[in-house]
Amino acid sequence: MNIQNYINGNFQDPVLDNWIDNYNPSNGEVYGQLPNSTKEDVDNAYSAARSAFPDWSQTTLEARSRILLKISELLEAKLQDFAEAESKDNGKPVSLAKTIDIPRAASNFRFFANAITQFASESHESVGQNAINYTLRQPIGVVGCISPWNLPLYLFSWKIAPAIAAGNCVVAKPSEVTPMTAFLLGQVCTEAGLPKGVLNIVHGLGTTTGQAIVEHPDIKAISFTGGTTTGARIAKVAAPMFKKLSLELGGKNPNIIFADCDYDEMLATTVRSSFANQGQICLCGSRIFVETFIYEKFKNDFVQSVKQLKVGHPSEPETNIGALVSKQHLEKVKAYIDIAKQENGTVLCGGNIVKINGYENGYYLEPTVIEVSSDDCRVNQEEIFGPVVTIMPFKTEHEVLQMANKVKYGLSATLWTNNLKRTMHLSNMLEAGIVWVNTWLMRDLRTPFGGVKDSGVGREGGFEALRFFTEAKNVCIKY
Ligand code: NAD
Repeated sequence: MNIQNYINGNFQDPVLDNWIDNYNPSNGEVYGQLPNSTKEDVDNAYSAARSAFPDWSQTTLEARSRILLKISELLEAKLQDFAEAESKDNGKPVSLAKTIDIPRAASNFRFFANAITQFASESHESVGQNAINYTLRQPIGVVGCISPWNLPLYLFSWKIAPAIAAGNCVVAKPSEVTPMTAFLLGQVCTEAGLPKGVLNIVHGLGTTTGQAIVEHPDIKAISFTGGTTTGARIAKVAAPMFKKLSLELGGKNPNIIFADCDYDEMLATTVRSSFANQGQICLCGSRIFVETFIYEKFKNDFVQSVKQLKVGHPSEPETNIGALVSKQHLEKVKAYIDIAKQENGTVLCGGNIVKINGYENGYYLEPTVIEVSSDDCRVNQEEIFGPVVTIMPFKTEHEVLQMANKVKYGLSATLWTNNLKRTMHLSNMLEAGIVWVNTWLMRDLRTPFGGVKDSGVGREGGFEALRFFTEAKNVCIKY
C-alpha cells in the first residue's frame, strides 16, 4: 500500500516523485512505498500551515478541544486497524500495539483536549506602583514535529496534540521506517473536522525531509524525539536561526535492585522493563545492577523468566517478542552481542538470530542477558536499543550510584527498594529526568517528561508541553 503526504487536508504525491520502500519487519518484504519528500513538499506544507494559522489560533479553546476529543474517539473506534498497521510497520506484537501504543496515542489527544482548557496564565500586581502585569501565552505559529520509529503513533501524537491544542499549525514528519499510522492519522483528522492545513504530514528520510523542516527559516520551533547524534545535528542547524528546540534523545537507563525490594513484583517488572517492545523503548532499563546478597538468585530467576519469553510473529497472540524494526537495526544489535563477548561479557541466555517458520526473512532476535564484570564496557555504556540487557552485582549504595551515573545519558532510572531513606537519597542523586521507584513506565500525562545530559533538552508532558508550544509575553499596565 502506498502512502502519500497529507498537506492542506489533501493526500498527495511528493512533488519530485521520489519514493522509498516500506518494509514489513516480520517477513522482510517490501509492502508499499512512501514519499521521500523534499524542500518543495515541506514548503507546500509550510504554506498550508501558515494560511491556516490565523483562524486556528483564534479558534476558541472549547472548539479546539472538541476536535481533539473527536480524534481521540476515532482512534479508539479504529483500534484494531491502527494496531495492525503499527505492528506491520514496526514488528511489535499486535497485542502490544492494541493495549499500549494506540490507546496511549488516543489518550494524548484526550489529555491535551482537556489540558488546554485548564492552561491558565499568570498575573502579578506591582504593589505600590499602580501597575498590573499579566502573561499572554501565544501560539508560536508554524512548528515542526519529528518523531522516531519505536512508538510511532504514540510519540507522533505526543507532540502534535499539544502543538495544535495550543493554537499552532504543524508540519510533522514520522519516521521513514514506520510511516503507516501517521498516514492513517491524516484520514482521522479530516474525519474529526480538523480544519485544512492545521496538521500537515510529510514523509521521507531524515536527511532530506527532516532536514528541510529544520532548515525552514519560518518554522520557528522544532520538537524532536530520536537519537542523540541526530539531536545534536538538529541543534547545530537550528541554533543560528534561534529556533525553540525540544530534544528527547537516547538513553541507557539503570535498573537498580536492592535485596529489600518486593522480589516477585520486581522480577516480573524487570522482565518487562528489559524486553517490552523488543527492548526498543528509550526508557527500558538496559543496565541492571543487583545487590550482592540476592545477585545469584536474581540471575537464575531472571534468566529462567527470560527463557520463557516467546519470540514469534507479531500477529500471534502468545508472542512476547516480535521482530526488530529493520534489518540494519537487527545487525547493529547483534554486533553489540559480539562486542560484549570480545569484552569478556558472558551471554547468560539468548544472543542468536531466530528464524520463524514461514517468516525466515523477518528480523527476530532472542532476548539476551549479558553478565558483565565492569560497568565501563561498551555494551554498558552505549545505547543498543534492542532486546539486550547487562547485569552485574553491586555492594553499596555509593558504588551503585557512581556506576548508574557514569554514562553520558540521563533519561530515566528505576529503583527497587522498600527503604525510605535510600529511596529519597538515590532519587535526588540519580542523574535522570525520570525516576521510577518500585514500578516502571507508569505515566501520568501531567508530569514532566524528558532527560538530562545527552538524553536531551527540555520537557514534554502536561503544561510543560503547552509552555514549549507557546511564547510567553508579559503585558504591564499602569493605572
Ligand atoms: P533517529 O534520530 O535516527 O530518527 C528520528 C527521526 O529524526 C526520524 O523521523 C528521522 O527521519 C529524523 N531525522 C534523522 N536525521 C535527521 C536530520 N538530520 N534532520 C531532521 N530529522 C532527522 O532515531 P530513530 O532511530 O528513529 O529512533 C531511535 C532513537 O530515538 C533512540 O536513540 C531512542 O533512545 C530515541 N528515543 C528517545 C525517546 C525519548 O523520549 N527520549 C523516545 C523514543 C526514542
